Amino acid sequence: MQNTDNIIANEKIDARKLRRAKKIITELYDELPNYIARGHGPFLAAIYDADGNQIACAANSVVSMNCSHNHAEMNAIRDAEELLHTYDLSGHNLSLYVTAEPCIMCLGGIMWSGIQEVYFGITSKVVESITGFDEGFKPNWLNEFKRRNITVYGNIEPEHGESVLRDYMTQNRIVYKPKRD
Ligand SMILES: [Zn+2]
Repeated sequence: MQNTDNIIANEKIDARKLRRAKKIITELYDELPNYIARGHGPFLAAIYDADGNQIACAANSVVSMNCSHNHAEMNAIRDAEELLHTYDLSGHNLSLYVTAEPCIMCLGGIMWSGIQEVYFGITSKVVESITGFDEGFKPNWLNEFKRRNITVYGNIEPEHGESVLRDYMTQNRIVYKPKRD
């Protein structure tokens, strides 16, 4: 029996989906320090098909590529679309897994991509409190995604994700954002 107490979802929790998400997101948390050590940002996303095959996996590369929209989710979507030669992934029944709740930009990117399921680790509120990143404003987004037939589960294995982010912060890594003063 899964402990589903703190899971956020926009459908009745499906134990099989949650089990798979916990496994994949744990793998992403485990992999993330290797990406951070190579200069990538502290978030990692992967896209899987319905048979459990990994289609793409990418970290945030805002700083390393000098591109403000190179968030992990956007990079993974771009890689999947290039691999599958399409701008519309909806025919491929794909799920996106990411170590933290998507920001305001990535919610848009996911919507336009045709991704059908989204699973995330720690919430934006926790990301902001640990790092100082600004995740944007996202009113009622789980319901907005539900209206568009995009399934969302979140707050998956958050303690593990928090510890990776706290490690990132202790290494004096860059918390990149535009200046607003
Ligand atoms: Zn983002």
